[in-house]
Amino acid sequence: MIGLISATAAGAAARDRLAAAWPDRTRLYDGPVADAVRRAFAECEQLVCFLATGAVVRIVAPLLADKASDPGVVCVDEAGRYAVSLAGGHGGGANALAREVGEVLGAEPVVTTATDAVDLPGLDTLGLPVEGDVAGVSRALLDGEPVALRAEVAWPLPPLPVAAAGAYTIRVTDRLVEVAEREVVLRPPSLVVGVGASSGVPAEEVLELVGSALREAGLSARSLAELTTVDAKAEEPGVVEAARRLGVPLVTYPAGELSGVEVPNPSDAPLAAVGTPSVAEASALLRGGELLVPKRKSRRADGTPAMATCAVVRRPGRGRLAVVGLGPGARDLLTPRAREELRRAAVLVGLDQYVDQIRDLLRPGTRVLESGLGAEEERARTAVAEARKGQAVALIGSGDAGVYAMASPALAEASDDIDVIGVPGVTAALAAAAILGAPLGHDHVSISLSDLHTPWEVIERRVRAAAEADIVVTFYNPRSRGRDWQLPKALAILAEHRAPGTPVGVVRNASRPDESSRLTTLGALDPATVDMMTVVTVGNTATRDIAGRMVTPRGYRWQTAQEGAE
Ligand code: SAH
Repeated sequence: MIGLISATAAGAAARDRLAAAWPDRTRLYDGPVADAVRRAFAECEQLVCFLATGAVVRIVAPLLADKASDPGVVCVDEAGRYAVSLAGGHGGGANALAREVGEVLGAEPVVTTATDAVDLPGLDTLGLPVEGDVAGVSRALLDGEPVALRAEVAWPLPPLPVAAAGAYTIRVTDRLVEVAEREVVLRPPSLVVGVGASSGVPAEEVLELVGSALREAGLSARSLAELTTVDAKAEEPGVVEAARRLGVPLVTYPAGELSGVEVPNPSDAPLAAVGTPSVAEASALLRGGELLVPKRKSRRADGTPAMATCAVVRRPGRGRLAVVGLGPGARDLLTPRAREELRRAAVLVGLDQYVDQIRDLLRPGTRVLESGLGAEEERARTAVAEARKGQAVALIGSGDAGVYAMASPALAEASDDIDVIGVPGVTAALAAAAILGAPLGHDHVSISLSDLHTPWEVIERRVRAAAEADIVVTFYNPRSRGRDWQLPKALAILAEHRAPGTPVGVVRNASRPDESSRLTTLGALDPATVDMMTVVTVGNTATRDIAGRMVTPRGYRWQTAQEGAE
């Protein structure tokens, strides 16, 4: 919950706007200001104070305990010009909150944490548990001092400006290690513990077994990613409770799937009880990886038979492939999510002209693998290969990366050992439609006229089907120097079913600096004016030119229903 505190009428007005925007996230604290801030500090994860920073500093200073647990505090000035992240920038989420508040109120977010200000990912914001000299190593990164990266486990990290050697070190490991001076240890979620259990096993017995197995193997519990077991134990209270206390998900598999896994220590007991010769080892090994601790049993003080078994596996680092659509060209049509993914990637793969479009958004240290037109399959393969090495990769495309673009060749190559994240982009048909008016107000289809990879017969059949079904059509790849007869042919097919006066919108370089658009008709369009930077949208039989805008009605029945409702 976000506590909101204000003192003056102007502050209360801004506060009320925020409360109206976020009714479920916010709570108002009234009464004497100092008291209201104190109550909110105790009860909320975050505070937005419509008060001077000085006043808030004085009130919260005695309450601050630890940046990992303190609430994030944001101050907004009387005039609503600035949203200042005052404390808890990372741990308390105040930096992100200041940006969000800024968006709602039209205020400038003010963020002073060093790593954010110079655009480096804070070592404590990578989503991994971190130990050691976070402040010292972060400062070294900022000061440009050499910081070495020692990754014992490959894990997808954002780009960090690291050197081959240095006085400072960032270590990525799941092993229990002595953290040296000038060193930070990042804990990747690389360990999976399989658990077998008898009915009624106490949670303490499971916890003690998991803890000692990890400890004795020299492994850090902070790298524990999940507990695994057989479906039949999905509701076993002691196992469920152990996972909850460890703060990891409990993943379960059917006995049939587990019995197919090759394990070093199968036994008869689980076979009789749940139908698989191995639960602990098999469930932990199911998604691949290396068995670090073979099956072991819990020890009970009273000498009664063990009720739990466990085995520890190090799963392979899962790379991350983000397939990111950049939109049609204009920077403000690039989504915030796309921007985030670009900054998160350590490796960027794309066509050189698209890379140029967003180069300034990349973090320093991002490895850029760019190639020229035509190298699609190679780009797709490279992106997947980098992700499989455990890297954080962004594969970019203009418009939407899944529309006549890289997503399909990449995913056709990808196996299930990487995570794939898709970020939609504004595709050319939509960017053009917004310029033309409302041409896509009823059923519509996109057809690429490029017959490089698709036989012309197939394209023609689709154009004909759209023509017969009276569907609005947007042509991508309409015409190039070597391909000039396809567009006239496609238009002729549409003209068999649509009047010569049917509106046609031609948009070139939508949202780019040299954008141009034209509204013409099926009878009047000169195909020679169309090139590869253009999309052509042909209306259906109901589409009209209204005040110079292309409008496809949603249909008479809908209009009647609206009128009836009035
Ligand atoms: N993935 C892209 C499409 C790639 S196919 C997207 O979703 O938009 C390339 C074709 O898209 C071009 O030949 C052109 O027809 C169209 N196109 C892409 N960007 C465009 C833009 N900004 N303006 C007009 N047409 C565009």
